[in-house]
Amino acid sequence: MQKQKYSSNTYDLMDCTQCGVCCTETEMLLCEDDIKRLESKGFIEGDFVQYDKQGYATLKNRDGYCVFYDRKNHQCSVYIDRPTGCRVYPVILDEGKGIVLDSICESRRTISAKEKNSKGKQVVRLLRKIDLEALERCSK
Ligand code: SF4
Repeated sequence: MQKQKYSSNTYDLMDCTQCGVCCTETEMLLCEDDIKRLESKGFIEGDFVQYDKQGYATLKNRDGYCVFYDRKNHQCSVYIDRPTGCRVYPVILDEGKGIVLDSICESRRTISAKEKNSKGKQVVRLLRKIDLEALERCSK
């Protein structure tokens, strides 16, 4: 398998070292579009999604890693179809600080201000969508 960079857009200059830390014990939230996209590739929802009591969907782990993490090749096995939250990582929303770079990412300082700003907006939109979808699930 060809090596892949963990960046989402062509203008991304973030220099990912593919350390795999962000795919370890993942708590990555999923939106419905993420789930449908991966299902359309033949994956079965129950194999990669878990739901909490509040209706939030997250990626499952296996042996301490995201079920999609290829430990042998140190890369995401669904890179092209990976969840939106993985695409915008390491930009995350900290409840107290707002949009920040996840401190566990060793490459976070290689991200440009432009990329952080763009991904920050995507994070806010994504989380709004995920909140609404969780609410809908719980009200059914
Ligand atoms: S889907 Fe891919 S990028 Fe996202 S946590 Fe899993 S292995 Fe990592």
